[in-house]
Amino acid sequence: MSTEATGPTATEHVDVLIVGAGISGVGAAYHLQQFCPAKSFALLETKETFGGTWAQHTYPGIRSDSDLYTFGYGFKPWTGPPIATADEILTYMNEVIDENDLRRHIRFHHTIVGGDWSSASQRWTLDVQRTDTGETLQITCGFLWMCAGYYRHSEGYTPEWPGMDRYEGQIVHPQTWPEDLDYSGKRVLVIGSGATAATIIPAMADECEHITMLQRSPTYFYPRPNSDELAETLRELQIPDEWSHEIMRRKILRDGQIIHELSASHPEMVIDELLAAARGYLGEDFDIDTHFRPRYLPWTQRIAVVPDGDLFIGIREGKVDVVTDHIDTFTEHGVRLQSGTELEADIIVTATGFNLNALGDATMTIDGSPVDYAASVTYRGVMFSGIPNMASVFGYLRTSWTMRADLISDFVCRLLNHMDELGVSVCTPTIADADRDMELRPFIPPEEFNPGYMIRGRALMPKQGAHAPWVATNDYYLERDEFPVIDLDEPELDYR
Ligand SMILES: Cc1cc2nc3c(=O)[nH]c(=O)nc-3n(C[C@H](O)[C@H](O)[C@H](O)COP(=O)(O)OP(=O)(O)OC[C@H]3O[C@@H](n4cnc5c(N)ncnc54)[C@H](O)[C@@H]3O)c2cc1C
Repeated sequence: MSTEATGPTATEHVDVLIVGAGISGVGAAYHLQQFCPAKSFALLETKETFGGTWAQHTYPGIRSDSDLYTFGYGFKPWTGPPIATADEILTYMNEVIDENDLRRHIRFHHTIVGGDWSSASQRWTLDVQRTDTGETLQITCGFLWMCAGYYRHSEGYTPEWPGMDRYEGQIVHPQTWPEDLDYSGKRVLVIGSGATAATIIPAMADECEHITMLQRSPTYFYPRPNSDELAETLRELQIPDEWSHEIMRRKILRDGQIIHELSASHPEMVIDELLAAARGYLGEDFDIDTHFRPRYLPWTQRIAVVPDGDLFIGIREGKVDVVTDHIDTFTEHGVRLQSGTELEADIIVTATGFNLNALGDATMTIDGSPVDYAASVTYRGVMFSGIPNMASVFGYLRTSWTMRADLISDFVCRLLNHMDELGVSVCTPTIADADRDMELRPFIPPEEFNPGYMIRGRALMPKQGAHAPWVATNDYYLERDEFPVIDLDEPELDYR
């Protein structure tokens, strides 16, 4: 895939600047071109290529956790199996870029390191660093659309364990997987049991001498075939791809809603179902309670998909061990656990998560004064109190991320067109005096969703208020009805 791109020059001004060429940024560019055709825009991306998460992660087996009918865009049918490899996602995105002639708008190797909003000139000036040449430059824009994801790509999160420095093997984080890592015939220990561990372990199991999943506490896994009967039937009936895509999205979203509601109203039923599925693969004698019965309720963290039960099959066939214990210390040859057990390994994979970040780690100011992003209150999980002309994409945590990225794209395009109709150039979400003292809550309340990266990074995130429009529900089933009819003249949007 070519990543050759042309775009604005160092001094150029664009109407809209999109930051990040992942699934959100490319979707934003598509929407902008489609619904605001008169707007000039550019898309700035740190990496040498598009894809974001799917370009960054190259570990064995890298694949989606969501189905691609809903992780893909509403406007571009997905025709492959529901769960896709990173390569398949990149091919899909490449087609979106080519079919819509978006490449000419993308500037690769461009990192936004900072930005200042000028009230006088009513524009953002962004400080940009080129990752290939080291050159710095500035670009100005009327509206800033942050699609920079939610975690720092350059480095994953690895806890500090005692004795790590004396370990003689190799420690690898999945986010920065060494291209030449040779694990054939090696003993591998994977620390963690989230979606990444569940992907890597079956993908490596056949080549390693042995692989062990070491977890502090269990995760919910959902084994499912990587095919869908309805999708197969629609294909057999030669239903047009666009229709099949829409039908599959509706079906998957309805099924997801049932699981959400059931998880909230009858969590024990969902738990029984998930554990029964694991037992089906592992047999009655396997200690499911120790290794696969989590301490949290389903959907307060993502449920990790296990396509075709591959992780469980690896365990059943004796290629994969699961150990549930805490690390006491690293040793020269592996780790010693609090139980006293020693696990020896040539390679230790720390599938221990991300470092949450905000606004792509760029430092923002307004008229020279620092923006305290974490003190701002979110306007519908898209814009922020007191920050003019800026939207940021934070997708769904339980439904596919892209479902929200698409809704936000529609909203931003509607807002930009509305501003043109009003003849204004500035829109700032502004808290009314009556709401100044409203109770503030975390952007993602821990009782609703609480994986480690969110708990560690909560202080970076904006707040949400007590009522609309100052809330971020992260609920597709509410937002799909609310977003298209947001009243753009509501008093909380201050236009200048
Ligand atoms: C391994 C893995 C699997 C996942 N699987 C799923 C899944 O199946 N379903 C799901 O819904 N979610 C999944 N997620 C969450 C996933 O990250 C999002 O769904 C989605 O890919 C995010 O897309 P994005 O474009 O918003 O952000 P990203 O994919 O993170 O892309 C952001 C882009 O912005 C660029 N960027 C960041 N800062 C700057 C800056 N300052 N200047 C210029 N460029 C910048 C980055 O280089 C990157 O290319 C997964 C996450 C991981 C890590």
